[in-house]
Amino acid sequence: MKYQPTIGLEVHAELKTQTKMFCDSLNDPNEKHPNTNVCPICVGHPGTLPTINKTAVESVLKVGMALSGDIPQFSKFDRKNYFYPDLPKGYQISQYDLPLVFGGVLNGVRLRRVHLEEDTGRLMHTEDSPSISGSQASLVDFNRAGVPLMELVTEPDIKNAEQAVEFARELQLVLRYLGVSDADMEKGQMRIEANVSLAADGGMGTKVEVKNINSFKAVHDAIEYEIKRQTEHLEKGEKIIQETRGWDANKGKTVSQRKKEEAHDYRYFPEPDLPPLDVSKFDLSRLKEEVPELPKEKRIRFAKEYGLTPEQADILTRNRWQAEYFEESASELLSETEKPDYNSLFNYLTSDLFGLMAEADLSIKEIKIDAENFADLVKLVSQGKISSRVAKDVLKKMFETGLDPTQIVEGEGLSQISDGGELESTAKKILEANPSAVADYKKGKGNALQFLIGKAMAELKGRGNPGMLQEIFKKLIG
Ligand code: ADP
Ligand code: MG
Repeated sequence: MKYQPTIGLEVHAELKTQTKMFCDSLNDPNEKHPNTNVCPICVGHPGTLPTINKTAVESVLKVGMALSGDIPQFSKFDRKNYFYPDLPKGYQISQYDLPLVFGGVLNGVRLRRVHLEEDTGRLMHTEDSPSISGSQASLVDFNRAGVPLMELVTEPDIKNAEQAVEFARELQLVLRYLGVSDADMEKGQMRIEANVSLAADGGMGTKVEVKNINSFKAVHDAIEYEIKRQTEHLEKGEKIIQETRGWDANKGKTVSQRKKEEAHDYRYFPEPDLPPLDVSKFDLSRLKEEVPELPKEKRIRFAKEYGLTPEQADILTRNRWQAEYFEESASELLSETEKPDYNSLFNYLTSDLFGLMAEADLSIKEIKIDAENFADLVKLVSQGKISSRVAKDVLKKMFETGLDPTQIVEGEGLSQISDGGELESTAKKILEANPSAVADYKKGKGNALQFLIGKAMAELKGRGNPGMLQEIFKKLIG
């Protein structure tokens, strides 16, 4: 019997705000000292009152707009009651029946809702925690307690592990384009729960929720594993139990954690310490304007406007600022040349510049080369003013100094030598020194010509015009 998988995702993302969701404590994911960014509100002292972080609400509204969701007039916060040592208040402020966003769609997957809540603290089970009565104690760090957390829930529209990964990657990109979250899965800034069920008749089977998914690979592997595990059970005629399982990346397995709790277990009720949210009071038109062109549209436009392949467009749009850098450089090419060489711009950007950035561990926003100078470098090559070999060195210098390429080329005498006389005398010298290569070439070995050109190039410190050198060698050898 063949079973069809059905998958729905629940995605949490920590929002990039200055302060926490309901207090003025700093929201600093890089704070290494435990329990530094805490205050009586986020550690749940009695008698304290929460206030709503406006930027966090606006961030979720923007996500809703970007994903074509419906923004209701009213929204509210609710208490979700449960005990866990990382939850100092004994409840989490979340949203139950009136989330900030209803519906929406991404990658063809329908969204059910997007709501706002607060993150929990972090438990640490480390070797160096004290030992109490002979057993290792766990420590708790409340720096993360109360950090704004967005939760997005999809409809069960996903059919396989690959589609789930694609969805998660696209969502991460959208959150980054919007600037609302860094959404780094390895840092726990984006966390995914996958609900997986199998059914033979196109209906819906019993779902299992998988938690602890901390990377895109884990999204894929955990879903594949669950599909396999459930298939094996069903084939043996066994029932699937509705439960929560945890992905153990080391063992490559899901492990039962608990039988699934129901909403009523949490005793949700409207948060009495917060007023209902009058969403219509937010400046929705400004928020809409702040939603940038999204990756999907950018990909299509880049391919069309710059004559790039879908793969090239995809590479450029994986980062909003890199895409903008490309576009800014491209507009500089347009202003001077008749037919701008966008392909060459793409190559210098994605292989050479991105390579230097990776080596130096710098982002496009941190480098010294501006888009105009970068475009100038590409122009120098396409106009034959410098050789592509010299271009690499010039780029390196630009990267170190931020100087404009013409200045570097002139200052260091790097312009391409296209002077026939000079090239010819170099070629003659090389021919005399390499008679065996000449003989090889005459025997029809094409490589020999490349070898000779290479020698001449080395002699000219990479500045020779390679096209002219080739012609000259051919002519001289006859
Ligand atoms: P719960 O009440 O257990 O939280 P929901 O119906 O609210 O379950 O759905 C939670 C998530 O599980 C959603 O992402 C939803 O798409 C997904 N889901 C619901 N039913 C199924 C199913 N049969 N198979 C896979 N995923 C499902
Ligand atoms: Mg939740």
